[in-house]
Amino acid sequence: MSQSELYDVVIVGAGPGGLSAAIYALRGALKTLLIEKAAPGGQVNLSDEVENYPGFVHVGGAELSMKFAEHARSYPLEELNDEVVAIEPGLQHHTVRTAGGRVIATHAVILATGGSPRKLGVTGEDALYGKGVSYCAVCDGFFFRGKRVIVVGGGDSACEEGLYLAKLAEQVYLVHRRDALRASMILQERVKAECKMEVIWNSVVNEIKADGDGVNAVELKDTRTGELRDMPIDGVFVFIGFVPNNQLVPAGVRLNAEGFVITDDQCRTSIPGVYVIGDLREKYARQIVLSAGDGCMAALSAAHYVEGRKAKLGAETCELPAGLMDTH
Ligand code: NAP
Repeated sequence: MSQSELYDVVIVGAGPGGLSAAIYALRGALKTLLIEKAAPGGQVNLSDEVENYPGFVHVGGAELSMKFAEHARSYPLEELNDEVVAIEPGLQHHTVRTAGGRVIATHAVILATGGSPRKLGVTGEDALYGKGVSYCAVCDGFFFRGKRVIVVGGGDSACEEGLYLAKLAEQVYLVHRRDALRASMILQERVKAECKMEVIWNSVVNEIKADGDGVNAVELKDTRTGELRDMPIDGVFVFIGFVPNNQLVPAGVRLNAEGFVITDDQCRTSIPGVYVIGDLREKYARQIVLSAGDGCMAALSAAHYVEGRKAKLGAETCELPAGLMDTH
């Protein structure tokens, strides 16, 4: 990266939203930088199979991620494997700072940092992470072949991951706090039909217990009666939703009560030139196809915004004045 470059758009996060934004930004001839601290694909990488992305009846999560990345890389995409530590809005341009010491100037920023698994917050959960507690069936299911596990949650993730675990484990208990699942009907039907899955209704995990080898039991609490009981188990998989990765959202951007970013229908935040897409954005549903759609919308809107900025600033050459350079 040249020291005097000013980007049209910097995209933070290379999940389906970020990669889709990159495709549209590059097709719009925007000078684009995509920054990702891990592998491209985001949460999709952790899915065993994806069955609801149009054009793919069944596709592996990692395979779909790779296809998104290959598509974006078919254009002249600049990528930076680094962690963004701050986004500082400015009047002339915005600044993106990375852990690796980059200070990058850009007209527009598209933030696509998604979310992280929500934790139960019970005794034993943190201490036993990696010793029987997991947030990823595809990553850790293999270690539970022929064993008995519980999956906590009643949404799409809990059902999908539970069905995946049923292919490996001896028995999967789905522990849900109510008497009805939140998941889509097709997944509920599959859970019902899976003989290795049993739903434990109206129950929450109160504590995760262990012996020297890791998790060996959970204490369950009946949400109607308050009754407590110990249940011997080898593993606990937690899928109770996720919390937005909003640490980089600049001060002044509006968030909802749960920490998701409020945008308009072009994914614009309350700061001009700062866009938020995908699972970090407040929306009715969180789906891969919706993140991809957000990426498209934000990039098209950013193209319009950048064009206006350049016209206003007379910055056709994209040269930065001294003192505004990438200091790497
Ligand atoms: P979710 O839809 O928010 O469901 C979270 C589940 O965990 C709910 O059943 C909730 O119970 C339960 N829960 C929340 N906090 C809990 C706690 N402290 N203790 C016990 N249970 C708790 O989350 P998700 O399943 O991770 O899905 C997130 C988003 O991704 C959703 O929009 C989902 O549709 C989407 N997604 C889609 C697919 C797909 O289309 N194939 C796959 C995965 C995820 P209540 O029901 O009582 O609130």
